[in-house]
Amino acid sequence: MHQNVNSDKQASKTAVPQKFVYFFAAGDSEGNAGMKNILGGKGANLAEMTSLGIPVPPGFTISTEICAHFYEAGGKLPDWVRPAVQESMNKVESKIGKKFGDVNNPLLVSVRSGARASMPGMMDTILNLGLNDQTVEGLAKSSNNPRFAWDSYRRFIQMYSDVVMGMNSSLLEVTLEDMKEEKHYKLDTEMTVDDLKLLVKKFKDLVHQMTGQSFPADPWEQLWGAISAVFHSWNTPRAITYRELHSIPAAWGTAVNVQSMVFGNMGDDSATGVAFTRNPSTGEKAFYGEFLINAQGEDVVAGIRTPQPITKIAAAAAGVMSLEEALPQAYGQLVEIYKKLEGHYRDMQDIEFTIERGVLWMLQTRNGKRTAAAALKIACDMIDEKLITQDEAILRLDPSSLDQLLHPTLDPKAAKTTLAKGLPASPGGVNGQIVFTSEEAVEWREQGKKVILVRIETSPEDIAGMVAAQGILTTRGGMTSHAAVVARGMGKCCVAGCGDIEVDYRNETMKVKGYVLKKGDVITLDGSTGEVYLGEVKTIEPKLDGNFERIMKIADGIRRLKVRTNADTPKDAQTARNFGAEGIGLCRTEHMFFGADRIDAVREMIIADNKMDREKALAKLLPMQREDFYQLFKIMDGLPVTIRLLDPPLHEFVPHTDEETKELAKRLNTDYERLRSKVKSLHEFNPMLGHRGCRLAITYPEIYQMQVRAIAEAAAQLMAEGKTLAPEIMIPLVATDKELDTLRGQAVAEVNKVQSEKNVKFEYTVGTMIELPRAAITADAIAEHADFFSFGTNDLTQTTLGLSRDDSGRFLGTYVSHGILPKDPFMSIDQVGVGSLVKMGVDLGRRTKPDLKVGVCGEHGGDPESIEFFHKVGLDYVSCSPFRVPIARLAAARAALIGKKIH
Ligand code: PEP
Ligand code: MG
Repeated sequence: MHQNVNSDKQASKTAVPQKFVYFFAAGDSEGNAGMKNILGGKGANLAEMTSLGIPVPPGFTISTEICAHFYEAGGKLPDWVRPAVQESMNKVESKIGKKFGDVNNPLLVSVRSGARASMPGMMDTILNLGLNDQTVEGLAKSSNNPRFAWDSYRRFIQMYSDVVMGMNSSLLEVTLEDMKEEKHYKLDTEMTVDDLKLLVKKFKDLVHQMTGQSFPADPWEQLWGAISAVFHSWNTPRAITYRELHSIPAAWGTAVNVQSMVFGNMGDDSATGVAFTRNPSTGEKAFYGEFLINAQGEDVVAGIRTPQPITKIAAAAAGVMSLEEALPQAYGQLVEIYKKLEGHYRDMQDIEFTIERGVLWMLQTRNGKRTAAAALKIACDMIDEKLITQDEAILRLDPSSLDQLLHPTLDPKAAKTTLAKGLPASPGGVNGQIVFTSEEAVEWREQGKKVILVRIETSPEDIAGMVAAQGILTTRGGMTSHAAVVARGMGKCCVAGCGDIEVDYRNETMKVKGYVLKKGDVITLDGSTGEVYLGEVKTIEPKLDGNFERIMKIADGIRRLKVRTNADTPKDAQTARNFGAEGIGLCRTEHMFFGADRIDAVREMIIADNKMDREKALAKLLPMQREDFYQLFKIMDGLPVTIRLLDPPLHEFVPHTDEETKELAKRLNTDYERLRSKVKSLHEFNPMLGHRGCRLAITYPEIYQMQVRAIAEAAAQLMAEGKTLAPEIMIPLVATDKELDTLRGQAVAEVNKVQSEKNVKFEYTVGTMIELPRAAITADAIAEHADFFSFGTNDLTQTTLGLSRDDSGRFLGTYVSHGILPKDPFMSIDQVGVGSLVKMGVDLGRRTKPDLKVGVCGEHGGDPESIEFFHKVGLDYVSCSPFRVPIARLAAARAALIGKKIH
């Protein structure tokens, strides 16, 4: 056999690691917390806990590297893996004095997944492995509890036949329910040993009938099957979706943890639970968790029974018994352990434990997932507790997660009709139409509808529906149920365990307080209080305050990059300032052209046959544009404001249907046919590469002339009011230095004219966008005529990759899922390609003008990963949409800290 093992190893494409099974037990572990890449988070932390003197049932971890070998071997566990597993199993046996498969005193194990990054509930788990018709008798004797032994056996068959043998688990569930009904039992616990024996027999017969295979009696066969199933579960659709959502590379693979079982279902002195060392929803510094007496771990997470709070205070509020009261000694030990773990990891921990006949065992610890609000509170508290430094706090926070706090919450003053109150599982205020299946949530979302996914409980199959929904409402399950944990991870509003609501899947209704709501009816959720309201409740805009403001100030002290905003309206400019924007990096003036009061004047300008007519129309626009700029300058109160001159092709402004054209002809008092042929003549095959940007002004200089005059007159007006300002005039889509030379000359002449007319002087600059590859490549020549550069990475991405920014969404998803592109290049900058042009543009520009101010105003200016890149290549500022300003401030600080670490 050994020879085969070696030739198999040689056949592997991926190098076979020297060691790939790591044992762990008190004081005798081969791994530690630093080995997450090969042991996965769960395995690494189990090993680490044993070194801290924390009770952990002995076991071993099969490394993540074997996951690649498993798939390379065609989804089979290579034979050469087995001897090392058998060796470690021997070690577990001698540690606890039980033998795997022994008929007198059998060792049972759990088999669980554990990837580098935690993927809660996404992969498979098997408990109670090692039971068969003989070992169950041994377990009955050694535990002196035949009922427990047979109950464990029936649970094992249920889990194994579902996870490993691919059988529909509801078949066995129905058999169990039928039996209870026949015997007039209400609870599972009323079943006698004989009932359970009969049930096991029925289960095994059913498995044989449905799968054509006997249920495996050999514990080793069971083990190989379970290990393979866990590796398989790395590639189930739900795991793949989760990975895509959280940018977890497929190549990481999962580890498999095999661990001796401890039992929380051995009676009323046994329990199982999960806890957080601080509140994961609010961040409050209070031990926070849930447990079930006489139950196995999966019962808590699955949301089948609603668990009870751990602490006396929390349980009293719910009118139930706490762990603190039920099992005080184990609780005391748990408190000691959680404090030790939090101090050791210096972060909030999410822990799992089991109490077997009064003895506490830890089954997991990991950094707990938390809402953005909780993350900010925990970071601030831990700085105050001197547990972490300010720099560490900044490095730990995920800038994108702040998005959760930048969305509306329910208006406390709005009129509301309360339907029910559940658990405040994940905050936010959202409304939408109710749907009862994940499939429908996805479909309705695709039709542009806002939906609330209503389920009795969610399971990992619901992940796509949860992504599509505005919020999630469940009627069963606690704060650590699947719905709650996953929603918090996604930053999605969730109300869980809302027991007063009765969901009827068949009729697609939910009943509560005499109301019967149908699919499509609107409700509102408040994830911060757990309240569910009828209809749509008014929302209010978010504010930066408290911990959020404090973290932003810390970030501001660290970052080098300035953060500006892209804003074209006074409202956007004000929102951005409230969020801390340090100026406007891009005002797209064309957006101002669409106002109802001016679009016709714009159209008149476009269809004009000669310069005089064009100037006549432009004269109508001048006062309106001047007022626009005046308002923006006023709100930004001396902060830099970059106004970009007209950019899009003119056909975007004209009507597209015959009907609209007819109406316009009437309004403009012109001939319909003439108008129609003019509109037609503007048609271009590739408008994005056509007559747009500065090319418009090369052919019609009077357009930019009007805009520059409006900017200068607005500035003069503010100067006259005693303000100071220095407008930045930006010329788009420049490809050659000659274009900029020409247009800059015209702009300067117009500003000078206004200054002498009004007899005021103000500072101003004229710069350009770098958004075409030729501009980046010739940036040294372009810089001769530019006071600043702003990278338009939207167009630069489009033109560098030759990908239409408007159409490529249709196939870019496939590129990303096939690993051809690491990410959508319009969301996160393609550092190797487009990024190289940015770097070249910066370097060449500064070769001509060492002090050249350089920023970015494409969408990438609000993307944390891109911001890190822009910091590295030496940009002065990023500009992003108002709601991303706080995200960019934090990301810029993190970029500075990461940069410091590297150097
Ligand atoms: C860009 O191209 O990156 C840019 C900011 O300009 P726009 O998106 O308006 O083309
Ligand atoms: Mg552009």
